[in-house]
Amino acid sequence: MYLDITLQICAVLYPGDATEEGKLLRLKQQFFLCSASLQDMIARFKERNPERASGKWSEFPTKVAVQMNDTHPTLAIPELMRLLMDEEGLGWDEAWDITYRTVSYTNHTVLPEALEKWSQIVMRKLLPRHMEIIEEIDKRFREMVISSHKEMEGKIDSMKVLDSSNPQKPVVRMANLCVVSSHTVKQYFNSVLMFNSRFLISEILQQFADDEKLHAEWASAKLASKIRLAKYVLDVTGVTIDPTSLFDIQIKRIHEYKRQLLNILGVVYRYKKLKEMSAEEKQKVTPRTVMLGGKAFATYTNAKRIVKLVNDVGAVVNNDSDVNKYMKVVFIPNYNVSVAEVLIPGSELSQHISTAGMEASGTSNMKFSLNGCVIIGTLDGANVEIREEVGEENFFLFGAKADQIAGLRKDRENGLFKPDPRFEEAKQFIRSGAFGTYDYEPLLDSLEGNSGFGRGDYFLVGYDFPSYIDAQTRVDEAYKDKKKWIKMSILNTAGSGKFSSDRTIAQYAKEIWDIKASPVA
Ligand SMILES: *Cc1c(COP(=O)(O)O)cnc(C)c1O
Repeated sequence: MYLDITLQICAVLYPGDATEEGKLLRLKQQFFLCSASLQDMIARFKERNPERASGKWSEFPTKVAVQMNDTHPTLAIPELMRLLMDEEGLGWDEAWDITYRTVSYTNHTVLPEALEKWSQIVMRKLLPRHMEIIEEIDKRFREMVISSHKEMEGKIDSMKVLDSSNPQKPVVRMANLCVVSSHTVKQYFNSVLMFNSRFLISEILQQFADDEKLHAEWASAKLASKIRLAKYVLDVTGVTIDPTSLFDIQIKRIHEYKRQLLNILGVVYRYKKLKEMSAEEKQKVTPRTVMLGGKAFATYTNAKRIVKLVNDVGAVVNNDSDVNKYMKVVFIPNYNVSVAEVLIPGSELSQHISTAGMEASGTSNMKFSLNGCVIIGTLDGANVEIREEVGEENFFLFGAKADQIAGLRKDRENGLFKPDPRFEEAKQFIRSGAFGTYDYEPLLDSLEGNSGFGRGDYFLVGYDFPSYIDAQTRVDEAYKDKKKWIKMSILNTAGSGKFSSDRTIAQYAKEIWDIKASPVA
């Protein structure tokens, strides 16, 4: 019987949350994993401190740290309170002090639509005791603000945990619960790399960035990875790609703010220009293979449409004998870590082109850079630090800056935005049916200012399009100079040391968990 429930809970990792059933399953999963983890921590604490089991709960936060990675494990807060009060017999104040000193929170996004909210009605039905505890946390938080932070009183509506402003749909704001209950809140800035002697490697590479022997070995290692990648692409898609062409990759979850649409519109524009060129003009073009990959959430319709568009464009371009020596477009299916391990080492250019201010960090930008891939990107998330570390001459920057975004959106609303003719040309080409008969109107409509159901190009694809195209032209030019390109590649790897996981963990240990490293025997 228990096994049966566990199987139901674990069978699907991310159930779609469009249906009530899917939502309930997700909540059950989150509760199950939080509760099991906390009960394990408490059992170990008691086992290791038998004499303290009842009296010394205050030491719990000095032995255990719970780092909530985004809001998905937020139920750990009311669950730890419940375990301490209902199972261990502590009072509210003591349980709260322990919980507060134990949990800390890493925030991934401040995008309002991406912040997790649970229906109060669903929560009350499924987890009535937890809902009761959350209500008490919210009440005490509001009282605390009113009594000791008078100046914040006007902001209390945006800070409180329970949002009942829509009486039909009252919700619990998980990020607010995290902020209110955590001793520390940190902004996500992951580091995914793992090499210890990073400063040594960086210095050696920087010193030999012009060395001919290093250049030859670097180029041959990159080519070997590209050949391996080309074999993989042929295997999973049936498309033959040329390992001597520029490998241009964008792989990440499909999301409008990540702007795969900007990439594919750029591809459409490139294709149209190639079609218009004479045979002589084509000779001067840098051959390019554009690869896109990533999963779209089950119910995210525009993301699914973007995947469809990439596939449709690929089908036309790859079979067009006028151009397919100069460009190919491939959608890589089933993007996951194993696929990333083949794609990233084989990349030469990677796209991290989110609207400025929308990507908290990004991690694949670091993975690419470490692997000697040059980035074309906006000043967003960790791109900012990567560009500082690798040097601005080794990074293709374009696009609006974060502090311009609000003003640009206002301009659009007021009809002050004049789209670049190249942007209009790319959209029109899709509308003309060049890539088949699928109705892309709803997708393209999201880019228009006076859209009925779109968002008036909320992610500013149209505004950034011309500077994106210009940056891609600079890429084409740079790639023609092989020596220059390899040096850029080497300096990307050399500049990646800051993103070492050793550095990140050491910083968390010092600044958040207050722990010291134990020497390895
Ligand atoms: C690194 C990684 C991501 C995150 O990519 P971003 O470009 O930072 O959004 C997603 N999926 C897989 C499989 C990854 O390896």
